[in-house]
Amino acid sequence: MLMKDQKSATRTHFAMNTVMSHKVFGIYAEDCLDAMCREISQLEGLLSRFIPNSDVSQINQSAGRSCVEVDSKTFEVLTRSKELASLCSGYFNVTIAPLVALWNIGKDSFTHPSNDDIQQKLSLVNYRDLILDSDTQTAGLAKIGQSLDLGAIGKGFAAEQIVKIINIFGITSAYSNLGGNVVTLGSKPDGSPWHIGIQHPRQEKTLLGSVAVTNQSVVTSGDYQRFSSDSSGTLFHHIIDPTTGYPVESGLVSVTIISDNAMTADVLSTALFVMGINRGMELLMSFPKTEAILMDTEEKVFVSKGLKGQFQPNENILYTILE
Ligand code: AMP
Ligand code: MG
Repeated sequence: MLMKDQKSATRTHFAMNTVMSHKVFGIYAEDCLDAMCREISQLEGLLSRFIPNSDVSQINQSAGRSCVEVDSKTFEVLTRSKELASLCSGYFNVTIAPLVALWNIGKDSFTHPSNDDIQQKLSLVNYRDLILDSDTQTAGLAKIGQSLDLGAIGKGFAAEQIVKIINIFGITSAYSNLGGNVVTLGSKPDGSPWHIGIQHPRQEKTLLGSVAVTNQSVVTSGDYQRFSSDSSGTLFHHIIDPTTGYPVESGLVSVTIISDNAMTADVLSTALFVMGINRGMELLMSFPKTEAILMDTEEKVFVSKGLKGQFQPNENILYTILE
């Protein structure tokens, strides 16, 4: 076990359209942080649809025409994206990009498109049209106009990759927050678990509570994370329902997933947010060792039963355990 006064290093930076911060313990902490940041920026260069020559941009530009050869990491994230989209019945859907772009999500202010435009873009959303050939390591999209957005999975994948780097450096205690995607490695140097705060979706600078974790990821998707309003003042958030083309109205305002697997946690937080509590909890049951904390539009909090003892609510927060 590491000693309490073990050397540590921290870093905060902007990447993947969000603020990231990391803390690692060990004598090689600074070198490890350098390698982690290099990895994140390399992944952003492959997976961002905003970077002109990224693998994802090349796939999007070639949609309906040809497949392109991609980096092995891109191929891996796309393969997992397609598998997870299928497990999530398409509610998590990386072919959502035409709609994300139409609503101008990810830019300074969203736009409120016409229903005709929404229906036209909706017809392009289908994760089954993502073509993957493992022999040639090529990827493509079946129809002209289709495009990929890895915003709901990319940070989870990056979290998995940086854990590999931390392990290579022989570091046994670390914490990374990739903009709402928290990944922990081991426990704190004194052997106690990490306590990860969960933001209250409706009260700024207030926590719903915290979860005690070791070697787990804690990932939140919420309507308060990215939003904008149109000229009439109506608020829109950033997660699109692939069955309607509109920002999701599933009755949930935030979903936190706690899991051993960072990428699964990232995907499930988005998928459950879209699916709502009943279908979402049914889906969660099919993932072992994966738990959830949900808040609905009436500010009721629900906690999956495996989190008993692990979730510590803030005072005044009442919650229901989902059996
Ligand atoms: P997250 O914050 O992980 O829940 O991911 C939300 C981001 O993923 C959005 O900002 C969009 O870029 C993209 N996105 C929106 N709706 C969906 C969806 N239904 N499935 C997959 N990605 C989505
Ligand atoms: Mg996600």
